[in-house]
Amino acid sequence: MKKVLQDYTREEIAALVEACGEKKYRAQQLYTGLMQGKKISELPLPAAFREKLLFEYEDEPIKIREIFSSREDGTKKFLFELADGNLIEGVLMQYKYGATQCVSTQVGCRMGCNFCASTLGGLIRNLSAGEILAQILTVNRLQGGTSEKRAVKNVVLMGSGEPFDNYDAVVRFLRNATAEEGFGMSIRNISLSTCGLVPAMKRFADEGLPLNLTVSLHASSDGERKRLMPVARAYTIAQILDACAYYFEKTGRRYIFEYSLVAGENCDEAHALALARLLKGKPCHVNLIRLNEVKERGLKTVTEKDAYRFLGVLEKNGISATLRRSMGGDIGGACGQLRASYLETKESKHAD
Ligand code: SAH
Repeated sequence: MKKVLQDYTREEIAALVEACGEKKYRAQQLYTGLMQGKKISELPLPAAFREKLLFEYEDEPIKIREIFSSREDGTKKFLFELADGNLIEGVLMQYKYGATQCVSTQVGCRMGCNFCASTLGGLIRNLSAGEILAQILTVNRLQGGTSEKRAVKNVVLMGSGEPFDNYDAVVRFLRNATAEEGFGMSIRNISLSTCGLVPAMKRFADEGLPLNLTVSLHASSDGERKRLMPVARAYTIAQILDACAYYFEKTGRRYIFEYSLVAGENCDEAHALALARLLKGKPCHVNLIRLNEVKERGLKTVTEKDAYRFLGVLEKNGISATLRRSMGGDIGGACGQLRASYLETKESKHAD
């Protein structure tokens, strides 16, 4: 595979331009073009320089392979193809406060949560910083945005993969996406969701990147959490809460817990009370979501009524919480399901 130019900072692009013996202003031209989501081959560069770049770097690290648009709420799901043929997926959701894009950080995942489709085939590979950024650049351009007037307002690292299992690339991505002279997003418009890799959470608190930190909790006791998430064998909830407190201390940002409601596992009144006791007084918010059923996993979701009952118990006990509505219901699937179902049809086609 060739290298990915979108991995580079403005300074690294400048150094590359200089090393190629090109005029200095080419660096800005190249960098700006990339931040607008353009391909190298589209940029008005001297032919020899362009050829040199194309020999070493991917012209289009992320290609949109398919788009599924919801008629219900404007949600778009994307199937992207990477230069090596791997597939990842992303979603663009329309909210009143602007469009939010959900991006992937890995091809597959090795965390093994037993309700999640992304992890079904294990981890294939990490994405580079530029491959993460290019998902946004590509969709922003498709939606008619530029880096001055972005069509993608918010970004959530909640697609396939565990961001903190690909720490260096994710941190590089965050610095590049928020570079003022570049794509220029505000770090406050970015959310990162982790399954709770405690050492990385602590390390991240010291990076000076005060984004919206989200932790997938899904249970209020370690025993129950272990049934849903193998990572709970490595880190306890107490350790996670500790790391969250450190994050708050360092960044002043309240943190968010994701809690997917799984029938018969974590959604009785007793679970809600235990969760409320656990989180009482902490500077946090709870996002509840009804499990998106993944057929290979066999777990069942809860009724809307039970989900509201759970929310009610949290609220009555002083916990700030919301029940997230599921978007794009008519185009199917939670994270990883699009890619999984795509790979499945491809495989069954092969089998025919
Ligand atoms: N690896 C990160 C980001 C992944 S997905 C993490 O674990 O946080 C974003 C959120 O969706 C996580 O909270 C994850 O647990 C949740 N999720 C995954 N599959 C789901 C499903 N089928 N139904 C509901 N939530 C799901």
